[in-house]
Amino acid sequence: MTAPVPPRPEYLTGARGCQAGGVDERYEPRLIDIAQDAGVTITFHDGHVARFDLERLRRGCPCAMCRGLRDRGEDAWPRPGSPRPLRIEDAHRHGAWGIVLVWNDRHDTGIFPFRSLREWDEGGDAFAPDSGLGGSEA
Ligand SMILES: [Zn+2]
Repeated sequence: MTAPVPPRPEYLTGARGCQAGGVDERYEPRLIDIAQDAGVTITFHDGHVARFDLERLRRGCPCAMCRGLRDRGEDAWPRPGSPRPLRIEDAHRHGAWGIVLVWNDRHDTGIFPFRSLREWDEGGDAFAPDSGLGGSEA
């Protein structure tokens, strides 16, 4: 399954300017491939390919609830009663800047910004509890 990626001109001309800094080519996905039982592979416009396995994504979920769990030193996944194995049920774009993953435990509140995924792949700790990233647009 591949999440649709609008052609570049669409979000260059259609941008409402609500996201500070605009969209940088380095952080702009050209192709998003969702392997529901394996992970997510994002090919960026500059050719960089970032791969994430399911567990890494789920444990690093940037939503407020999961960040709260990590703040307390608990795992965001698995939780008591979590279905195994972990699986992605659905995924959709969140504007031009991120992707929402819907997990088989019905968790769907985490928005993964492409910029953070790129930085994470390059060794950054993009989804650390204090990263400031997550589901709310502060
Ligand atoms: Zn979460």
